[in-house]
Amino acid sequence: MLLPERLSPSQLTQLFETVHTTKPAYAEICSLLKKIFSLQEGGLSACRPPVMSIVETRLDAQRQGGLPLIEKGQILVDWPSMESLFQRLCAAALGENALMEAAGTTLLERCQSGKLDLKHFGTLLMNDDWPLFEQQAVGSDLQSEVLALLTYHSIWPSVAIHLNGLKGHLPENEDWQLGYCPFCGSHPMLSLLAEDGGRSLVCSFCRHTWTVPRIFCPYCQNRDAETLGYFFSEAEPEYRVHTCQKCKSYLKSIDLRQLLRPFHPFLEAAITAHLDMRAREDGYLDRTPVWVNIG
Ligand SMILES: [Zn+2]
Ligand SMILES: [Zn+2]
Repeated sequence: MLLPERLSPSQLTQLFETVHTTKPAYAEICSLLKKIFSLQEGGLSACRPPVMSIVETRLDAQRQGGLPLIEKGQILVDWPSMESLFQRLCAAALGENALMEAAGTTLLERCQSGKLDLKHFGTLLMNDDWPLFEQQAVGSDLQSEVLALLTYHSIWPSVAIHLNGLKGHLPENEDWQLGYCPFCGSHPMLSLLAEDGGRSLVCSFCRHTWTVPRIFCPYCQNRDAETLGYFFSEAEPEYRVHTCQKCKSYLKSIDLRQLLRPFHPFLEAAITAHLDMRAREDGYLDRTPVWVNIG
């Protein structure tokens, strides 16, 4: 199956130009994402996380028990470079809307005065402990969703380096037909239909892509076609929203055969917020983490 690779800086520039013209309603969030992606590329080359190795028993557990390759909460992060990228992302937020401007100013001040424990918040985020993350952020007068967004994007270079180094240990496609990521165990943020019609899911944390059956709910493993459906708009043939009657979840899907521009998961997730709105109005639950759907 042909799946999209990471985009080059010139592809990213071209992509944002295209989206600026075709999706003007999303100009604000695109402006921020453009800066984040560009700074992240710089962050990636400066990032040197401690090497992670995989013990044989973990590989056995992965093969036999469907355990992901790593424990997400134990990912080794290059914290100094994460903090440096975080500060650059805060500075980038200053030129954006009032919410981002205010949140970015506070976060940058706290960070520079040593009053923001990024390692603590980053670890909560990696452990999927959103209730505690939100409670402690709000308790410290911080905008929790912006903190999560910038923390996530600052940690990602470390995650990407580990994924790249360890991908040789990942199972073959046919051996992992599950609803969570074989690398880090996270839920998907998007579903993809590839050139050959095969379906895959994009991880909401590490961005790894893995194949799954066409008729399948990743949240409850439902494979009953009677209770799985989708909706779409004829004006946007590249998008579908898969729905599951059994667990009332939904997941947005991109048909790469219809997408007439390069694919970036976080950009597509952001510029389809109108589909999230419709799915929620229809009573379906959004299962993606907070950093995916901010905008
Ligand atoms: Zn993952
Ligand atoms: Zn389901």
